[in-house]
Formats: sequence, structure tokens, C-alpha cells
Amino acid sequence: MDKTPKRKLKYAEIFANGENKLKYSQGQIVYVKDNKDVWTPATIQSVNDDRLTLILTSKQVVKCKISDVLLRSETNVGDIETLTSLTPLNEATVLCCVNSRYYNQKFYTSAGSTIIALNPFTDVSHLYTDHVIHSYHSNHDQKLPPHIYEIAQEAYSSLVRELGQINQSIIVSGESGAGKTVSAKHLLRYLTKVSNQRVNEDEDQTGKEEKKRGDVIQNKILDSNPILEAFGNAATPRNANSSRFGKYIKLQFNRGGEIVGGVIQTYLLEKTRTVHHGLSEFNFHIFYQMMKETTDVTPWMSSLQADMKTTKFKNLPSNNKELKETRKLAETLAAMTDIGIIDTLQQQVFQLLCGILYIGNIDFTPVDEESSAVEDTLVTSTAMDKASEQLGLSSDQLEKVFLHRNIQSGSKTRRSVFVKPVSIVDAKNRRDCLIMLLYSRLFEWLVDFINREIQADEYHSTIGLLDIYGFEMFETNSLEQLCINYANEKIQQHYVSHFLKDLQKEYELERIEWCSISYTDNQPCLNILEGKQSIFGVLNEEVYLSRKSNKRILGERLLEIGNGTSSAIKKPRKCSGEPSFIVNHYAGEVRYTVDQLVTKNKDNIPVELISLLKSSNNSFIQALFSTYQTVESPGKKKKTVLAKFKSCLDGLMTSLNRSDVHYIRCIKPNTVSQPGVFDRCYVTQQLRASGILETVEICRQGYSARIIYWEFLQRYGLLIPESSSVPVRESTSSSSENDQSFDMDPLDTLFRKQFDLPNAPKRTPTPKKTLR
Ligand code: ATP
Ligand code: MG
Repeated sequence: MDKTPKRKLKYAEIFANGENKLKYSQGQIVYVKDNKDVWTPATIQSVNDDRLTLILTSKQVVKCKISDVLLRSETNVGDIETLTSLTPLNEATVLCCVNSRYYNQKFYTSAGSTIIALNPFTDVSHLYTDHVIHSYHSNHDQKLPPHIYEIAQEAYSSLVRELGQINQSIIVSGESGAGKTVSAKHLLRYLTKVSNQRVNEDEDQTGKEEKKRGDVIQNKILDSNPILEAFGNAATPRNANSSRFGKYIKLQFNRGGEIVGGVIQTYLLEKTRTVHHGLSEFNFHIFYQMMKETTDVTPWMSSLQADMKTTKFKNLPSNNKELKETRKLAETLAAMTDIGIIDTLQQQVFQLLCGILYIGNIDFTPVDEESSAVEDTLVTSTAMDKASEQLGLSSDQLEKVFLHRNIQSGSKTRRSVFVKPVSIVDAKNRRDCLIMLLYSRLFEWLVDFINREIQADEYHSTIGLLDIYGFEMFETNSLEQLCINYANEKIQQHYVSHFLKDLQKEYELERIEWCSISYTDNQPCLNILEGKQSIFGVLNEEVYLSRKSNKRILGERLLEIGNGTSSAIKKPRKCSGEPSFIVNHYAGEVRYTVDQLVTKNKDNIPVELISLLKSSNNSFIQALFSTYQTVESPGKKKKTVLAKFKSCLDGLMTSLNRSDVHYIRCIKPNTVSQPGVFDRCYVTQQLRASGILETVEICRQGYSARIIYWEFLQRYGLLIPESSSVPVRESTSSSSENDQSFDMDPLDTLFRKQFDLPNAPKRTPTPKKTLR
């Protein structure tokens, strides 16, 4: 083994190095930097030191520096399915490869052990037929075209064969509208389908009954999709069906590899969407679904629809397109029925939704600076009546809770409560708070309900599918975008550390000859977001210390975080208008507005609202809030939104770290969501940000397979003459994490002696990963 320190090469140098060594010569084919196409083909006409004269395909002659060109492949890169096979491998060949594959309707490309999935923006159902599923599932030797099913099969095979970690995860990442949710749905279908094929028709009666039970569970798991999409997705300027919550579904399998259940964890529903809508932003799909009259619904739904038909709801921004594209109510209702939400419960859910819409139509007028009244209009009075009716409250109760707040005073033992009127701004805030509270609680209830229906008591292993909201960058960005982009940074960090950091560290530890590849590590950005001195720190402090900094001062405090040394946070160039700051995310710079950050982070829910809902005459609403905690445990501060979100994501990371992770990188080919349009600048930006190029290079330079040491010994230990028995790993018990604690040392020593290997380096075992 070579112990000489490896020279550090920068990623860019790897290509440039090899290429610069080449003497560029007349007639050589290259790519040259280009503003429109990013890289455009050219042929060298002449070379003059580090300057080149090129002739483009348009016959135009241009001059450029050597550093502005990259070598071009002689062969048609569009025929290449695996980026690691590209020669030369550089940004230009990768871009041209995925570009021509896209135009040839080949939307999937292998990139090391990751699959790049380009969004077709058109119906490609022929790619997901049962026949295709069968091909990927039953394929053993034949090389099939790259497909997300390949990743699903790899995860499933590892689970069944108990290779590496027992539990598996598939992370589907990409920008908003890149195709994560659609891909996750196909993966879910694949996994439910193949895990059911294990029981065949010749099974005995017990086997058949088990299969039937399995079918029911699988259908329920699949039914969770339309329900959660209806309640948790909405149209945004970037995606007409954008997920407004993060979702991690863990499919549970028995020892035989059959699916026995699942559990869904959701992350931070964007509840503000129920009350605020920017330009081209819409409310959650379910509201539009219930507004669209259909003939094939139950009488109670018809009567609800008839009731709402003539009303214009303020919180339901719509245009014809949105209403036209609304998914079918019948599909949501059927899924609710199949999952076990009986008709009367469904009725209560939709009555609550109707109530939520009417609350949004209640408006106020100021009485003086410190008090307000309910507006005396037909719209408001109708809304008051309807809302209170649907929520099982009286209109007086509603009015009181909007217009007054309780102030507690005195000591703990002699506490008195005063009622104080509120200003019009506060009255509106209390109304919106009630809407958000009701909707988010309903969403939580739905997730709990689904989980109760699909969760298995016992299982052996899991495959997790992660589909979170994609990276977002709007004109105005607030706490919602900060959370979404933070989640994406965490996933990116997982990818970076899994593929780029750990793999290289491992090679170094194992003293394998290796040229380190440098990559963009997003840790500095995460430090600015969640570290000791960070944006989260400042925003949480404002809440915990009940500090009332004005927007300008808060903006300045936030900008002080990097001490001017970190490039992850900076001042916007144009400082006019609302105070704001820019975070340099891995996927691009995002400008966040300071206004509302603290209020949203505090997410203060007046106790009176919850007490009121607990006292509702409506049994469903009462049940929703019966266990809702109004008072935090003594001595404990209420957690901020950011603190809660961070701890949820930390939990997710722990779960991912305890599993074998597989990645799918979704790429959005254009910003207009159209088929057949490949925006090379936009795609390059996503390829660069995702770290795909570095992964491909690492996979190409690295070894094609990694096997956990104990597994290797188990397989090949027989080669050692002295070893009569190889330890057998005990299968782990239900739901427990991998146990690799058994003693391998004696065999290890023997093995090393036999093959003249150095002593084992002290290290924690890393999961096995097969690299293609
Ligand atoms: P967000 O982060 O906003 O939730 P997303 O990455 O989940 O975005 P999707 O909702 O999966 O994006 O995809 C956006 C749209 O792109 C879909 O509604 C669909 O029209 C189209 N699309 C995505 N993947 C495919 C596919 N495999 N086949 C056909 N159309 C697709
Ligand atoms: Mg989505």
C-alpha cells in the first residue's frame, strides 16, 4: 500500500489537468463556454500559447483562453446511459449527455450510484407499467436502462438479502417542480407491488389470507397519497401541485420481504397558506376540490356545495386555470373511504373545511386604536353565522374570542384574569390564527388516522421514502422558505457527507491510492442557519427573551452573524425597501425579508382559542382539541417553530444515518413546466448545485463495490485455511437497528495475516454501498 500523502487536486483541476497536459492542436474538437448554451461545440482552428482560435458549428470564428474550453467526445454522448462512462468526463459532456437523452425521451441517467431523473412534463406512463416493474424486479444479469425502479430494486434487494444495514432509505431531492412527488409515488407503487409478488398463487390457505391482508395494507398505503396531496399540496408559481409539507414514509416489511405496514412522518405543513396568498399562490387543493360541484357525491356533500356555491371566499384565490386543474373530489373521497374514514367522519371533516372558509370572510372595523368590532356587513354576518354553526359554537363566543384577549395577573396562587379589547390588527391576527390552528390540527389528525390504519405492530425492516418540499426562491421569502431551504440544505449535507466526505475519508483510512476531490461543502451555510451564532439563534432569542427589536435592528443583528467573514450570509446590494438579508444556499442565493420572521417563529396561539374549541358542541372539533396542550410544562418555554423543525430534522437525519441511503436527483428541465424544453443554463445550475459532477468523478475513480468488512469475511473467510467456521450474523429483532457488535477480531487477525495486510484501522463501520 502506498503511504505517501496524496496531492490534493481540485475537482476542476482533474479535468483541466488532464486536458491542459494535452497539447491542443488544430482540428481538435472541444466545447467552448457560451452565454446561451453554457457549452457549445467547436473545433480548434489554431493555438497560440494559452489562446485558441475556434470555429463554431455556425462557422463563426471566435478567440478564447484555453481555460474556456473542455474536450469533446468523439462519440455520441446521448447513447451513454451512465455518466461514469463518459470520456472525457466534464461538465460539458455531462450536460450534453443529459440534454440529448432528454430529447430522445430518455429521462433517466445513471450518475454513479445516483439516478438523475429529468422531469418529462408529459405523460410517460409506458415507463411505469407492470411489465416494466416486473423487468426490473426479476432482472438478474441483463443491463436495463437507468430507471428509478433500479434504485427501488436495489433498496429492496438489500433489504431482502440483508446486505449492509437492514433498513434502507431512498432520498428523492430536487427543486420545486422537479418531480420528487411523482417519483416517490412510482417508487411506492414499485415497492408495494414487488413485495406482494413474493406470495404466489400456489400458496396454501394461510398464505392466501396473508396475501389478502397484505393487499389491504398496500392499498391503504397507496390511498394515503391522494389524501395527503389534497390536504397538503397547493399550486405555486413553480409547481401546480407543490408539496407544502415534508413527507417521510417508512414501509415496514416482515422477514420474508413482504410489506406489512407503514408509518408516515410529516414535516411542517405550510399553514400560512390558508390565510395569505402571494401572486399566483393558491390555497390547499382540498378547498378547490370541495368547491367544484360534481354530481356523483353524497347528499351531505351536495348540500354543502349548494350552500357555498354563491359565496365568494376571501381565502380562496382562484383563476380559471386553477379551478380547471383541480383534481377530482371523488378520488379523495374514495381514498378516505378506503382508508377507513367513514362517511359521517368525512362529513365532519368537510364541515370543518367549510367553517374554515367562512371564518376567512369575517372582517372587522376599528372602534378606536385599542378596540375593534365585527364589521356590520352581510358578508361578515353570514360568515359569522355559518362559521359558528359548522364549528359547534355560538356567534357570540366567536365574536368574543376575536375581539378580546385574556390577561393574567397576580401570583401563581392568586391569579386573576382580565379581559381586554384588541385592536383591529390583533382581531384579524386572531381570526387567521384560528384558521391556521384548525387546518393544521385537521392535517395532523388525518396523518394520525392514516398511521393508525397502516402501521404494523411487528415488522423486521423498513424502506423509507423521503419526499420533502423542494428548494424555493421567490420575490419575497419568509420563514416558510427559510425552513424549506434549511431542510434542503440538511439533505444536501447528508449527500455531501455520505458520498463526498465519508467515501474519501474511508479511502484515506484504508490507505487506498486516491486523489482527493474537492467539492462544495454546504456546512458553512448550515452553520449560519443553525450553528451557535446563527439565524435560528437570533430569531429564537427574540422569542425567548420577548425582545421587541424593530425590523431594521433585527436585520442588522442578523447580518452581524457572519462577522463579515462568512460568505454564506450577506447584505443585499439594493438596501432600499424592507430590511432583508441574503443567504447563499447551495442551490442559489435567496433574499429573506426580516418582517414577520419573529412573529411566525413565535407562532403564538392564544389560550382562549384552544379553550373555546375544546368547549365546542361539535364532537369532532372537541375530539381534535381534547388532548391539545394549552399550557407548557412548568419551567419549560414553548418551543419556537424553528426549534421544533430543527429537532424534527435532526430525528430524520438520525433515521437516515441508520439506514443504507439511495439517492434520486430530480432535475427540472425548464422553468415554464413545458415538455420538450431543455434550458441548459437552468439545468447546469442544478447539476452544479447538486454535487452530481463530483459524485460521478468519485464513483468513477473509486472502487466499484464496497462490502462491509464482516460481510466480506463471511463470504470469503473460507479462503483462509485455518478458519473452520465463519461467524454468522444473527438477524436483528423487530424494528431494532443493525447490530454489528459481535466479535470479528480473531478471524480478522487471521485474515490480515494470511493476506499480509496492515492492522485494522480503528474506525466505525460504514454502510455498504454498491457503486455502479
Ligand atoms: P415540490 O417541491 O414543489 O413539491 P416536486 O419536485 O414534488 O415539487 P412534482 O409535483 O413531483 O414536483 O412534479 C411537478 C409536475 O411535473 C407534476 O405535476 C407533473 O406534471 C410533472 N412530472 C413530474 N414527474 C413526472 C413524470 N415522471 N412523468 C410525467 N410528469 C411528471
Ligand atoms: Mg412535491
